[in-house]
Amino acid sequence: MLMLWPKGDSARTTRLERRARETAAWTRVKAEVRRRDRICRYPDRTECAGRLEVAHLHERRRSKTTGKPPADRHDARWCLLLCAKHHRAYDEHRVDLVVMDRTVGAHGPVMWE
Ligand SMILES: [Zn+2]
Repeated sequence: MLMLWPKGDSARTTRLERRARETAAWTRVKAEVRRRDRICRYPDRTECAGRLEVAHLHERRRSKTTGKPPADRHDARWCLLLCAKHHRAYDEHRVDLVVMDRTVGAHGPVMWE
């Protein structure tokens, strides 16, 4: 019996598998960051608002790592937990931060500017 596979099926499978690996990696990293940080990492938490979100540091933001393996895209060293308000302020460059020790990234202290 002759088996015919739809054209492009293997490419589609690969894309779905890649997306599943990406989602799994991001889910793992988010859980790790939430366990590590537990609260918004912005120093003045009196103005925190909204739910807690896991933020990528700007140098590792998703648009800069497109196409890289999931483990390179999502690493808890380059993510931290922020409330929605401070996440937005960080992404809009109204506040910025510097990682104090690049070998440990956000596992260690960060300095806000
Ligand atoms: Zn906050």
